[in-house]
Amino acid sequence: MNDVVIIGGGAAGLFCAIEAGKRGRRVMVIEHNAQVGRKILISGGGRCNFTNLGTTAENFLSENPHFCKSALARYTPQDFVRLVRKHKIDYYEKKLGQLFCRESSRQIVDMLLAECERAKVEIRVSCEVKSVTRNDIFEMETTAGKLRAKNVVIATGGLSYPKIGATDFGYRIADQFAI
Ligand SMILES: Cc1cc2nc3c(=O)[nH]c(=O)nc-3n(C[C@H](O)[C@H](O)[C@H](O)COP(=O)(O)OP(=O)(O)OC[C@H]3O[C@@H](n4cnc5c(N)ncnc54)[C@H](O)[C@@H]3O)c2cc1C
Repeated sequence: MNDVVIIGGGAAGLFCAIEAGKRGRRVMVIEHNAQVGRKILISGGGRCNFTNLGTTAENFLSENPHFCKSALARYTPQDFVRLVRKHKIDYYEKKLGQLFCRESSRQIVDMLLAECERAKVEIRVSCEVKSVTRNDIFEMETTAGKLRAKNVVIATGGLSYPKIGATDFGYRIADQFAI
């Protein structure tokens, strides 16, 4: 059984998978598109504005303002830039700290896939999660059968751009578990 199933193979899901995999967890990412990271591919006009050097907790709205403080203290924009450099992705600053790939957003998706492979993350594409229930563990109905996991991460994103895979799944799960 997986330690964690991450539903959604976008930027959030893939990055979460890498970090959990690095901590020795057995991780599976489920993505209903035939490929992961489709929204990343169109981001930044195809060049992915992958971070901003001036990012601070004050740039985020949250019911718990301390969350962003601790998250950004543990992983900074400079940490992401180091990862981009490690993968020899050429980038430039457009203005006001905005960093873009010089070539293509594809490089960011390839970087995330390479890091997933390194962290031994299993990625299952063309598989849609239909439902999640919880008893002692989580059980999921998918288009490829039932799955079980000790932990589930919902990383199915928001509703923008349904034609590239966006769904209201995350909102429905939040309602179901009364979050
Ligand atoms: C045109 C455009 C340009 C942008 N440019 C930038 C930019 O340059 N820089 C920047 O930082 N941000 C940019 N953004 C915003 C950024 O792309 C998103 O904030 C980010 O990609 C969201 O990542 P995510 O992982 O949360 O969600 P998503 O990328 O939406 O990933 C969610 C994934 O879950 C999958 N999914 C949904 N339901 C299910 C299900 N039931 N079962 C299995 N899989 C499911 C979806 O197919 C999708 O792949 C842009 C957004 C758009 C639309």
